[in-house]
Amino acid sequence: MSALPQPSPRRPIRELPDELISQIAAGEVVERPASVVRELVDNALDAGATEITVRLVAGGVRAILVEDDGIGIPADELPMALKRHATSKIASLAELEAVSTMGFRGEALAAIASVAEVAVLSRTAGADHAWRLDARSGELAPAARGVGTSVEVRELFFSTPARRKFLKTDATELAHCIEAVRRHALARPDVAFAVWHEGRLVEQWRRASFEQRVRDVLGADFMEGAREVQARVGPLALSGYAGVPEAARSRADQQYFYVNGRYVRDKLLAHGVRAAYEDVLHGARQPVYLLRLDIAPDRVDVNVHPTKIEVRFRDAREVHQAVRHAVEAALAQPHTQAAAAPAGPVAQPTASTGAQPATATQTGTETAWVSGGGRSFSAPPVVREPVAAFGAQLQGRLAWQEALALHAAEPGAAWPRRLEVPAAQADTPCAAADEPRPDWPLGRAIAQLGGVYILAENAHGLVIVDMHAAHERIVYERLKRLLAEQRIEAQPLLIPATFAATPAEIATAESAREALLTLGLDVSPLGPGTLAVRSRPAALAQADVVELARSVLAELAHYDASHVIERAQHELLATMACHGAVRAHRRLTLEEMNALLREMERTERADQCNHGRPTWRQLTLKELDGLFLRGR
Ligand code: ADP
Ligand code: MG
Repeated sequence: MSALPQPSPRRPIRELPDELISQIAAGEVVERPASVVRELVDNALDAGATEITVRLVAGGVRAILVEDDGIGIPADELPMALKRHATSKIASLAELEAVSTMGFRGEALAAIASVAEVAVLSRTAGADHAWRLDARSGELAPAARGVGTSVEVRELFFSTPARRKFLKTDATELAHCIEAVRRHALARPDVAFAVWHEGRLVEQWRRASFEQRVRDVLGADFMEGAREVQARVGPLALSGYAGVPEAARSRADQQYFYVNGRYVRDKLLAHGVRAAYEDVLHGARQPVYLLRLDIAPDRVDVNVHPTKIEVRFRDAREVHQAVRHAVEAALAQPHTQAAAAPAGPVAQPTASTGAQPATATQTGTETAWVSGGGRSFSAPPVVREPVAAFGAQLQGRLAWQEALALHAAEPGAAWPRRLEVPAAQADTPCAAADEPRPDWPLGRAIAQLGGVYILAENAHGLVIVDMHAAHERIVYERLKRLLAEQRIEAQPLLIPATFAATPAEIATAESAREALLTLGLDVSPLGPGTLAVRSRPAALAQADVVELARSVLAELAHYDASHVIERAQHELLATMACHGAVRAHRRLTLEEMNALLREMERTERADQCNHGRPTWRQLTLKELDGLFLRGR
C-alpha cells in the first residue's frame, strides 16, 4: 500500500471558463449578504437615485431586493449589465483616472449572478413599461414598475455550500447589511434610505442636511460629543466630526472615513486620525469620528482593492498630515468658548473690541452634567465663532494674563504660589465683588472641595474642576511647547539630590544622558549604586526631583537611546507633567485657584487630562433648580 500521493499528470495551460472567472471575482467582491447590499446600493447611487429601498429575507441570505428611482437600464442593455467587465461608467484609462462614480469595474452584477439567483427589473424614462431579465435563464420579459431599477438576489451561495457555511446567524448578517446601508446613508444625506427585514421596517432615513443625517444615523449621543472638523489644505478638503476623547469607545465601531464620498477603511487615514488623539486619548480607547476627505480624483487611486475599500494616495504624507492637523485643530478648539456663551444678556462684548456676542442656544442644558467638550459642540454657532473673536473678548484682561504668563514662565514658578494682581487691576472683582465675572468662561473660584475639586461660579452656574487633572494638562502642554522650541530650561539644584539606584537605572541614566539633559534633568552616577540629580526642569519646580528622575528613567528604559524623545515624547512629557502637577489635598488659596482657571482658559485641549478624562464640568443654575424642584 503506497501512502504517497501520486503526482497528477500535467495539464495544459488553458483559459478559465467565464463562469469560473466570475466565481473567483465573486470571492473578492461578495463575502456575505452585506457585500451584495453595498454593491447594489452603489449602483443605485451611480444611477442618480434619490430614494433607495432595501428588502431582506433571513438577514439577506435568502433574498436581497434593492429598488431605486434612478435612470434605469434600457432593455437592450440589460444582458450586458450582467456581463463581466461590462460597465457604462468608464470607457478609457483616462476616465479611470478621473472616475467619480462608486462603481467602474463592471464586475459586481456578474459576480453576484455567479453565486446567487439574480433578476434585474428596470425601466428608463422613455420606455412604456419595465423589462425583467432573469440572469440564469437569460429570459427577458415585460414587467411593471416605475422608472428605476430593482435587483433581486436570491439564495446567496446556493451553489457553493462550503461558502454558505461561513455565514453567521441571520441576525448577524442583518446587522452587517444595515451597517452597509448606514455607511452609504452617512455619505449621501440627499438620498432617502429604507431597510425592511421580512416585512418589517428596520431603518429609515429621510432626506436631510448633513448634520441632521449624522444625528439620525449615529444618534444624538454621537453629536453631543463631537467637534466639527473643517479644513482646507492645498488640494485637500476635510470636513465632518471628530468625537471628544470622552466620547471614545472600547471598540472601533464608530469610525467612518469617506474619500470623495466613498467609504474606506484605510490604514494611512486611520493612523492620521489616531495621531491627532495621541495627546488626549489612552491607547486602548477608540475615538469616534465621521470624516470626509475630498481630493482631486487624479490624486487618489481607488482601484487598488476589488471592493475599493482601500485607496492609494499620490501624496500619502500630505494626506496624513492634513488629516492629523484638521482633527487636532478641531479637538484643540478653546474649550471654554461654549461656557463663555451667555445664557442671558450678561456677557455683552466690550464695545471697543467689536466682537460679536456669541448667540448659542444652550441645547445641552437639558442634560445634567454636560461636560465642557460636549457642550461646546451642542452649541454649534459658538463653535464656529472664530478663535480670534474669542481672543478679542479676552482683551480687556490681557494685562492681567500677561502678568500671569510671565509669572508662570519664571523658574520655580510653574505653579504660582501667590499671584500678584497688578495695581491697575486691583479692583477686579476677583477677590472683592460678589457678582460672578461672566466673561471668565470658567468663572471665579469660590472654594476647594475634598482637597480634589475647585468650585467656581460663572454666568451659567457652578463649575467643578478636577485640579490635578487640569493642572497636569496645563503642565503637559507647556512642556510640549518648550520641548518643541528646544528650551526646556534646566534649573541647577544648590545641593544635588542623591538616591540609591538600581543597576538598570544607572545604565539608563548613562545611555540616555542626552535625552535627560534635553528634558532638563541632569542625572549622573555618584559612586556605586547611587545617582545624583543636579538639575531639574525649571518648569517643574513643584516636583519631587527624586521621584521625577526615577519615573523618567523608568520610562526611558522602555526605549533605545536613539531618538527616544521623538518616539516617546507623549509618555515622557505625561510622566513629567504628572509629577509637576499640583497634588490632591494641597490647600489652594482663592488666588491660586483663579490662576489655575485662567491658565486652563488659555491652554489648548484643557478639557481633558492627558488620559482623556474630563478636567471640568458645568452644572447650570437650571440644573441646580431642577435638583431642588424650584419653579415647578
Ligand atoms: P459597475 O458599477 O462597476 O459599472 P456593475 O456590475 O455593478 O458594474 O454594473 C454594471 C452596469 O449595469 C453599470 O455600469 C450600469 O450601467 C448598470 N447598472 C447596474 N445597476 C444599475 C442601477 N441600479 N441603475 C442603473 N444602471 C445600473
Ligand atoms: Mg457597481
